[in-house]
Amino acid sequence: MSIVTRFAPSPTGFLHIGGARTALFNWLYSRHMGGKFLLRIEDTDRARSTPEATQAIIDGLKWLGIDWDDDITYQFARAARHAEVAHQMLAAGRAYKCFATTEELDAMRAEQKEKGLPQRYDGRWRDRDPSEAPAGAPFVVRLKAPQDGATTVNDLVQGEVTVQNSQLDDLVMLRADGTPTYMLAVVVDDHDMGITHVIRGDDHLTNTFRQVQIFKANDWAVPTFSHIPLIHGPDGAKLSKRHGALGVEAYEEMGYLPAAMRNYLVRLGWAHGDDEYFSDAQAREWFDIKDVGRSPSRLDFLKLAS
Ligand code: GLU
Repeated sequence: MSIVTRFAPSPTGFLHIGGARTALFNWLYSRHMGGKFLLRIEDTDRARSTPEATQAIIDGLKWLGIDWDDDITYQFARAARHAEVAHQMLAAGRAYKCFATTEELDAMRAEQKEKGLPQRYDGRWRDRDPSEAPAGAPFVVRLKAPQDGATTVNDLVQGEVTVQNSQLDDLVMLRADGTPTYMLAVVVDDHDMGITHVIRGDDHLTNTFRQVQIFKANDWAVPTFSHIPLIHGPDGAKLSKRHGALGVEAYEEMGYLPAAMRNYLVRLGWAHGDDEYFSDAQAREWFDIKDVGRSPSRLDFLKLAS
């Protein structure tokens, strides 16, 4: 089987170290396996996405020598396709219209809180007939998520991770204004782009169970997931600007060479014996996602940049 990986940044800022490493792992893994590496710009958050950030990400990848196959996919441009899938799921009985008002849902959550229950949507429109709603009332489209059993992710880095379905409520896929949610968009895009392997930061692990539910509700093949530990600063805290977590172009300005940067990034969470420097050919030959560690990697040289 030919594998397909992707890098799916949200263009809200420069290409930071964590994103650059995620891109590099996806790229190396696809090159190692003789597969494809695709780039998807997740620009659905219109308030925070900017063309400048998109350009900065593209420039950063190019500077690092990371090339992608095919044309870039822009997520926002695919909104009609995302909505189409939600409507197909409605027609197939895998999703339903929820007419609950914001006030009603606020009251539901307040009551759950008072009773010490977890605050989540209680499925009140799951089995109701939409004709019971007032004519023209706004609605969201929710996934009819499985209520029994469990959802398991066999993660190449994290191992087998399971959540009881009773803990996941029926997530919103289309908002009242008809726009798709991020969770739906990611799944439809990964499916349509033929993504076989999703490699991303482990801050996305909790989203994965819901994404798997959407894949399954459509009878689509579920990709293989690898959630890589986030990068921490020298003080052990999650990497932030305070640590000098600048965009890769800042390193270019400081005189780092792309090959040195790639070599540094690939070793954040992955190692090949005691080898410290690899040629590109060696990195491509040796890199395997299965060998990525589960504990956070620490940056050391970034303090130079702060
Ligand atoms: N757009 C997400 C981010 O930048 C990545 C989503 C994904 O890889 O599935 O964090």
